[in-house]
Amino acid sequence: MINQEMKELGCKASAIRELFEYGKKRKQEIGEENVFDFSIGNPSVPAPSIVNETLIKLINENDSTKLHGYTSAVGDNLVRQCIVEYLNKTYQANLDYRYVYMTAGAAASLTISLNAILEENDEVIVLAPYFPEYKVFIEKAKGKVVVVESDKNTFLPDFEKIEKAINNNTKAIIINSPNNPTGVVYDESIIKNLSTILKKKSSELNHTIYLISDEPYRELIYSDIQYPFVTNYYDDSIVCYSFSKSLSLPGERIGYIVLSNTMNNVQDVFYAICGSGRSLGFVCAPALFQYMIPNCLGYTSDIEVYKENRNILSKALTEYGYEVINPDGAFYLFVKSIDEDAKAFCEYAKKYELLLVPSDSFGCGGYIRISYCVSKEQILNALPAFKKLIEDFRRG
Ligand code: PLP
Repeated sequence: MINQEMKELGCKASAIRELFEYGKKRKQEIGEENVFDFSIGNPSVPAPSIVNETLIKLINENDSTKLHGYTSAVGDNLVRQCIVEYLNKTYQANLDYRYVYMTAGAAASLTISLNAILEENDEVIVLAPYFPEYKVFIEKAKGKVVVVESDKNTFLPDFEKIEKAINNNTKAIIINSPNNPTGVVYDESIIKNLSTILKKKSSELNHTIYLISDEPYRELIYSDIQYPFVTNYYDDSIVCYSFSKSLSLPGERIGYIVLSNTMNNVQDVFYAICGSGRSLGFVCAPALFQYMIPNCLGYTSDIEVYKENRNILSKALTEYGYEVINPDGAFYLFVKSIDEDAKAFCEYAKKYELLLVPSDSFGCGGYIRISYCVSKEQILNALPAFKKLIEDFRRG
């Protein structure tokens, strides 16, 4: 016999992946330019030139056995030091490189962190709508997912609901700002309020509640919100970062975990992170891409491109009669479904060759997600289809 749970996971692709695969097939049938694929969050803007320049320099100037060899399991020390120096300077943080653990992207940062802290039946709060893989990661770490709805109008955290959901079994809460799928960004007041509740509840219940901050979109902010770095507000914070989106490198698998150095028993938690990475077989994060990091910290892909896409789409869709959640960051537009049944509406949208993700996949009904990290040309070409979709649907 094989593990049935794994078989289930393997044969049931996520709704997003399924749509993405459908899109690939449809493009072969009717031509790439005729399919408006807004399904997946694959960055469309190339990595900044410093990435390739650094990689070429590294390859030309280094002994290849060293360059492609194993690094320490926690990552290369110089790389860890540079990351901490950069974060401390950028966010006026007070981090220590000894609590940085290099990973293969945000997914690895999350799975390693969850497996490090969770014991059987520990609860982890996720805020709906949420990134669907959280459920997979938490359950594989033997935890229980507790879904708390965000505020229905703003999609910001609903503090009353969060406080009510916390109990003796609560081990952690995961936040994600800028958010996938809503594009909402949490400002300082949100992080302060959340920290106050977590501190109060940790002390009442006499156990640590970890704040896991999933930050792959940290640099993708289009408003003047100053990013509140969680370790500045809450001691028991675990930051899960990735360069997938900021540097447009999702296929290269590079990121890190950093713990607040004022965390309760930080050294033990860090050992648990190391043990978790080891037991999951990560060995070390990709070496070449670790060595790339010091030169590329502070750089991002050209996010003005995403900003322009966002502006064009959100203005046009609003004009056509769609209700759009104002997105301050990431590269997703969250739009109220015209049919209450978002799945049915997204199915209907396929007739117009529009590939949209129903919000049901994110633990909340009634919305659609439009991933706008696509070419501006695709957005402009898709606008008539969006217009026709709402007009025809309303006509019935
Ligand atoms: N967390 C969120 C909210 C995401 O949207 C994604 C990817 O889309 C990830 C984590 C995983 O990122 P990575 O590709 O770095 O593993």
